Amino acid sequence: MIQTLKDQLKRPMRDIRISVTDQCNFRCAYCMPAELFGPDFPFLQEKELLSFEEIVRITKILATFGVEKVRLTGGEPLLRKDLPILVEQLNAIEGIKDVALTTNGVHLPKQARALAEAGLKRVNISLDTLDEELFKKINGRGVGVKPILKGIQAAIDAGLEVKINMVVKKGLNDQHIVPMTKYFKELGVQLRFIEFMDVGTSNGWKFDYVVTKKEIFDILSQHFELEPVKPTYFGEVAKRYRHKGTDAQIGFITSVSEAFCSSCTRARLSADGKFYNCLFATEGSSLKDVIREGASDEYLTYMIKRIWEKRADRYSEERTEESAKQRKKIEMSYIGG
Ligand code: SAM
Ligand code: SF4
Ligand code: SF4
Repeated sequence: MIQTLKDQLKRPMRDIRISVTDQCNFRCAYCMPAELFGPDFPFLQEKELLSFEEIVRITKILATFGVEKVRLTGGEPLLRKDLPILVEQLNAIEGIKDVALTTNGVHLPKQARALAEAGLKRVNISLDTLDEELFKKINGRGVGVKPILKGIQAAIDAGLEVKINMVVKKGLNDQHIVPMTKYFKELGVQLRFIEFMDVGTSNGWKFDYVVTKKEIFDILSQHFELEPVKPTYFGEVAKRYRHKGTDAQIGFITSVSEAFCSSCTRARLSADGKFYNCLFATEGSSLKDVIREGASDEYLTYMIKRIWEKRADRYSEERTEESAKQRKKIEMSYIGG
């Protein structure tokens, strides 16, 4: 029997997160604090970004490793020109079953339909509160809640499967857990609570700011009747619950309190073409450089396999407040969430 590349891997590679830009129209304090990402911030130049052709070439190779899911992210991915064209090209790759997107939602009213027509199936939209003033403060750009709700509706109307990402930070929006849950239960859209993470080095992370899954669950249990939902595949990141007697679900991304490194099947590609195994990596390997030096697909395959097989990252399982400060990690806006 011929052993395929996929079968040779010690750890399966199932999904890839591709950052298509490091720029963003927001300045969320937990991700790109405005004081650090100011007008002089050295964002990537256009020629430094991977072209669509290069992204598609790398994804075709990753599909031979077993990658079936692609999630486009950033920075804000909807700022990348002609994104539906990329979605269409990725969707046509043999082996790729699912192309999804994570966005702040501002540009969805204009783009949702074209993205769905290009083959996008799912979209995660970030919204941390329904409170107008607090949301303006969180996004750092004075954008109100309405444009995001319009984006959510546009995505639903375009036939996309929608989930909402709420990063919960103690003292910032933990009072908004219940109103958000009520609102999205009624809308029939899955709300996912994301534990505040120490990605990068600029968001002033401390354990004290983390509201854990257990704490959120205890708050929710006083208001809602929830029952666990079985994971649908190995390595599913969200721990899901259903509002009893309904189809409405909530999810938890427990990257701090219950790390899931040992089942992590995800790889990451930055907007300038560096391949990373882990969200908390300090260094990536530039596929763009070797592609632009004329590397063959065989060489790229060899290079990716070597990086993937060496992976022993267990950052979240080993995190301490000290380790969170010491490492010079890459920023969330650069590698994508
Ligand atoms: N701009 C898009 C957005 O906000 O959805 C995509 C990129 S953003 C980096 C991806 C996800 O990471 C978002 O859901 C965001 O809320 C989340 N995120 C950003 N910083 C985070 C942090 N420090 N801890 C946990 N999640 C974070
Ligand atoms: Fe931009 Fe998303 Fe980061 Fe907010 S979380 S600053 S929207 S990249
Ligand atoms: Fe995967 Fe790294 Fe997150 Fe662990 S810390 S789950 S290895 S991305």
